[in-house]
Amino acid sequence: MSTQPLVVTGDLPPGATERRWSPISSTLISGRQDAVLVDTFITVEQNRQLAEWVEKSGKNLVAIHATHGHGDHFFGVGTIRQRFPNARFVAPRDVITVMRRQASAAVFESFWNSRFPGQIDANPVIAEELSGTVIELEGEELVSVSLGHTDTDKTTCLHVPSIGLVVAGDAAYNDVHVYLAESSVDTRNEWISALDIIESLKPCAVVAGHKRPGSEDSPRIVEETRQYIRDFDRIAAATTTAEELYNRMLALYPDRLNPGALWSSARGVKS
Ligand SMILES: [Zn+2]
Repeated sequence: MSTQPLVVTGDLPPGATERRWSPISSTLISGRQDAVLVDTFITVEQNRQLAEWVEKSGKNLVAIHATHGHGDHFFGVGTIRQRFPNARFVAPRDVITVMRRQASAAVFESFWNSRFPGQIDANPVIAEELSGTVIELEGEELVSVSLGHTDTDKTTCLHVPSIGLVVAGDAAYNDVHVYLAESSVDTRNEWISALDIIESLKPCAVVAGHKRPGSEDSPRIVEETRQYIRDFDRIAAATTTAEELYNRMLALYPDRLNPGALWSSARGVKS
């Protein structure tokens, strides 16, 4: 399931009249009866719809897992748990560190609540620490794989070897502009290594944390994300202003969703 809400901000990309958030994906991994949800959405309204969608599956939600600590992937846990009070919320210790920072009063107010005023659960639930790296679902293993820096620090993906699935979180993007605002030359290299790790798992399907609704969850997005980061890196080194970097990347990737994310990336590395 995925969705794309409006962002309240005066910081618009050149020529744009509004900004939307990138479409976010949330993945339900189902057994015969039980299921695990990977990542949630931002606003209460989006997460109510997500809870309904999970309910319609008829599965018993036993756990919610967050791939990384960005608020747009875990602020919905409280809303989901109103419907599924027995679902545990788990994440690796490192992810929880970033999560706490995102939910802190300062970041929550200045970044999240200013963009989505009054629309987000004001008391985000913080995950309990996943002991080890495995979430068990009816005897099958869902394995948390540490990826280091991708679109933020201390990120992971969730690998389900029995079905060849990787839920990539924000390590991979699918036809959406990649968020590189937190990156440097070094961490962009770290991100490339993270993509190498995903590729080494030889997945049949890779679900991106941000994807164009309806697009195929093809492993091909791993190389596409890698290429996007390399192009960004090269053009960032060859340009001076955010506008130049933005325009040259947009010329290369005119069709990806959410140029606003590209604008944040350009501003982030050129500020
Ligand atoms: Zn993220």
